[in-house]
Amino acid sequence: MAEDDWEDKLYFSLSDLEEQPPQVLIVGSGPAGTAVAEYLYEECEDVTIGILERGTIFTVTHIINSIPLYLRGAFIEAMEQFPWDGAFAPKEDAQGKRQPETGGMMIFALGGRGIVAGAHLRRFYKDDFRLWNQGQWPVTDLAEYYDRAERVRNVSFGESEGRSQTWTLGRLEEYNASPPSWGLDIRSNRNKEISRGYDSSAARLWDLVLRDYVKAKVGNKKRRLFFAPQAYVTQIAHDRERVRGFVCREAQDPRKKDMIVLGAEQFVLAASPIESARLFLNSGLGEDRPAAGRYLAEHIYCRGLVTVNAPDNDPHEQYVNVVVPPQRKQQQQRFQIHVQGDPVPGDPTKICYRLTGEAAMDPQRENRVTVDGSAEDEYGVKKATVFLEYSPDDATRLNIMKNEMRRIANELGGNLDPDKDLKVLAKGRSHHEAGTLRMGHPDQLDSCVTDSYGQVYNISNLFVADASLFPCVGVANPMLTITALAYRVAEKICTSLKQGQSATMMVKQEEP
Ligand SMILES: Cc1cc2nc3c(=O)[nH]c(=O)nc-3n(C[C@H](O)[C@H](O)[C@H](O)COP(=O)(O)OP(=O)(O)OC[C@H]3O[C@@H](n4cnc5c(N)ncnc54)[C@H](O)[C@@H]3O)c2cc1C
Repeated sequence: MAEDDWEDKLYFSLSDLEEQPPQVLIVGSGPAGTAVAEYLYEECEDVTIGILERGTIFTVTHIINSIPLYLRGAFIEAMEQFPWDGAFAPKEDAQGKRQPETGGMMIFALGGRGIVAGAHLRRFYKDDFRLWNQGQWPVTDLAEYYDRAERVRNVSFGESEGRSQTWTLGRLEEYNASPPSWGLDIRSNRNKEISRGYDSSAARLWDLVLRDYVKAKVGNKKRRLFFAPQAYVTQIAHDRERVRGFVCREAQDPRKKDMIVLGAEQFVLAASPIESARLFLNSGLGEDRPAAGRYLAEHIYCRGLVTVNAPDNDPHEQYVNVVVPPQRKQQQQRFQIHVQGDPVPGDPTKICYRLTGEAAMDPQRENRVTVDGSAEDEYGVKKATVFLEYSPDDATRLNIMKNEMRRIANELGGNLDPDKDLKVLAKGRSHHEAGTLRMGHPDQLDSCVTDSYGQVYNISNLFVADASLFPCVGVANPMLTITALAYRVAEKICTSLKQGQSATMMVKQEEP
């Protein structure tokens, strides 16, 4: 197909990209892949970008902008397309039917899991970066990337206001509770822009696709953004020091075995910590990298309900939304508690609070993704096996968090028995997994895989841009940090493209 015909296309096929390879190829269109694409599109003049997404286009916005909130759970269940294997495996009932809310999961679609994510977007707490001996972050300059991420993702202090919110904040003042930062666009139509409500990577990526399309169609510009849905990347073709291409298959039909190798100058993994690690290991890149697939961690989630009288027993209608940050620096106290309240249906003089405790996990070498099993997916690609166990400190942290949740319930005027009323979510259900291709200093190659810019050590043109990079999972929800870090990775890719050279640097040349 001639390049001129491209102006009529919104999205592209594998053969299109084979004919005209872009300079940068990204695997995954979730929050990580989208952030890399949007940074390169906006800041790296003339650079051409390809995005390979295994899934299809279910929506071009956050799902809550399309369907009522009460259907979100059902949508997520319907979209749980890839239950992870191994210790995270979902439980099945006697008929072999997957039980909901068990096991880890992926959403293969434009926007990845960003299309359903709860929009809770806060920065990592400062201690998250340096508290764990096994999980120190080699990055200290994230602030400017956070600034950009908050601006682009419309982060505000939430939509909750009113008497119950103020009252709840007052009751939890000694815990330093505050409204959560949310990726929720609460502008109306200022400057004639239509507010999209919930932020999502799908919406931002689709905006870019449209912008690129319009610029080419009426502005006579060259196409720069090539989004290819249903493009399954199954391997990384490499000669140990350089990546030659991504090996891809069309995802719509598993029986079609044809493979296409797509070339580019720079290659980016943004498929999420399980899938990026699976791809890396399935490509033989783990052989001389002892940390590849290791140090997987996620949040330990614990939930419970408590019903209390509304302030002065007055009817109220508003939703309450408050976060209690970690109270102390010690590792055993690294958790936050999210307090959300709704009027009880039929009795608005009562508030039903949902308490969600979210604790960090120790980064442990033994917790990992492997591709050692024999199981294959329907395309014949080896599945990942996931192993994740709590450390003794994780178990202690969970107990302390449960007790704190009881104290908070008391503070709000309710009672909560930690043993009976709190449910710990199944492993994998936090959807906040991290680690597996961690960044770190070159003298720590036993415990990291990339440099502090996400560049894989000793491979000059392969970058990682998702939460696989996180040295530890921290306490805060990850999406804002994923976005900020992905911008930083993109900036590095941009610099190296501008310099006309492959990005870095073998181990010896890495900065101290
Ligand atoms: C119900 C729910 C609520 C959440 N709430 C919050 C929240 O409030 N705050 C927060 O910070 N986080 C939240 N999260 C977590 C957040 O969604 C994830 O951290 C985030 O989506 C991770 O981004 P990612 O781009 O790394 O991965 P993903 O979003 O998983 O995207 C990865 C993409 O890569 C594609 N892909 C994978 N493998 C391949 C391959 N081999 N070839 C081609 N494409 C591939 C996938 O199809 C997918 O589109 C929530 C998650 C869920 C499920």
